[in-house]
Amino acid sequence: MTQTAVDHKTYEAVIGLEVHVQLKTNSKLFCSCETNFGSIPNSQVCPVCTGQPGVLPVLNKKALESAAKVGLAFGCAINRHASFARKQYFYPDLPKAYQISQSDQPLCLDGAVTLTQGGTPKVIRIQRIHMEEDAGKLLHAIGSVELPYSLVDLNRSSIPLIEIVSHPDLSSPDEAYEYLSTIKAMIQFIGVSDCDMEKGSLRCDANISVRPIGETTLGTKVEVKNMNSFRAVKDAIVFEINRQIEAIRGGERINQETRLWDDTQSATFSMRSKEEAHDYRYFPEPDLVPLNLSEAWLAEMKASLPELPTERKARLVSQLGLSDYDAGVLVSQRELVDYFENGLATLAADKKGRIAKPLVNWITTELLGRLNEENKDIAASPMSAPHLTELVDLVQSGAINGKMAKDIFAELYSTGESPRSVVEKKGLSQVSNEAELIQLIDQVIAENPKIVQDVKAGKEKAIGSLVGALMKKTKGRANPQLANKLLKERIETASSGAKG
Ligand SMILES: [Zn+2]
Repeated sequence: MTQTAVDHKTYEAVIGLEVHVQLKTNSKLFCSCETNFGSIPNSQVCPVCTGQPGVLPVLNKKALESAAKVGLAFGCAINRHASFARKQYFYPDLPKAYQISQSDQPLCLDGAVTLTQGGTPKVIRIQRIHMEEDAGKLLHAIGSVELPYSLVDLNRSSIPLIEIVSHPDLSSPDEAYEYLSTIKAMIQFIGVSDCDMEKGSLRCDANISVRPIGETTLGTKVEVKNMNSFRAVKDAIVFEINRQIEAIRGGERINQETRLWDDTQSATFSMRSKEEAHDYRYFPEPDLVPLNLSEAWLAEMKASLPELPTERKARLVSQLGLSDYDAGVLVSQRELVDYFENGLATLAADKKGRIAKPLVNWITTELLGRLNEENKDIAASPMSAPHLTELVDLVQSGAINGKMAKDIFAELYSTGESPRSVVEKKGLSQVSNEAELIQLIDQVIAENPKIVQDVKAGKEKAIGSLVGALMKKTKGRANPQLANKLLKERIETASSGAKG
């Protein structure tokens, strides 16, 4: 299916996202079992998270705090009397045959995410953020060998999650992508989840419908699941919008259904129609009393929030004079802006402003370029922030030139040595010693009488070839600004001396 075949002028898409985020805690949501990823199946289970009779759930305080912090960061109102409910359904990965979730009393209500990449800022409303426990995991194959039965791993059962539900305010795959990226960055700043889609600590389902532009009622919505990367979310939405528009134009009716995204076929396939879908019945969880959160506790949560991306960006712009764009790139990832600021912190205060911009350039081009080639992220950078900052400082102070810096960058990157020691060891530092340069300049003047005549006659540009000759003598190590200045001075002295 090609995009050109589809009529995007007459139809518009309406998209809402449900994002599940796994909270980083040492123990599960209602028991003390560990939460390590990739452990031996069923090694992190107990009577509570395997749903044995007679056990009682106890709410994990840290998970509650983390969920509230996320709500506050997105500007939600925190429901001080939030409560838990049982979401009833049967599935082999759910030993209790219900999931403890929140229904009509979720923890957080009415937040927002502001998108900026489309030019004019657009606010995407968050309907609610609620807490719930994860289900277990079914294994249908071991490696590539299909099993004639399914295995159940309950390590994941009852791991704490939050579900962030947006209003259907998104209208394109790009907006969905930016919304997800913004949520991920924000949660990483707060530090309550690593938001790794590949490990399942961030999952996203999309509700998608289309309607003729100008129509106010919503079209029939289709739920799309099984996207395992941000890219897949975007691709699945593109596919689904096109599929629905083509179906409507072909006179078909859109079925309300759940569809699964297939990454290898780049298409969605019907999983179940709404008629067959679960009719969840919620009822209040009798084993957990409703919360009773104090104002003081809420104030404490608010105060414990770190500096969030928008504030941090504003500070970088005002304190360091970075452009909005550069600061925006840095705060798109907590680890990136931390790297930058950790580097800058090693400099004396009067240098920070001068080094900031070149340091951003070195990070975003040289360093990220190299890391991308190796499929690493900034946290795994073999080159430390203080070392990269030292290298940039050496360039800015004139000790080495930009070309030399690029040459030794590669070496520093793999050896982890300090830039200053490499420069000294290799004798790479620029010749900035005046006496040494003057001696060489006088040789250049003596060897190039014709060019010196030209310079004296007012051909300013001719001095370039004298600088070139000097560079040859120093193997490119003369400090160019100083060389230029001294050359002019020596020619002047020489000519005034001749006159006198
Ligand atoms: Zn347990």
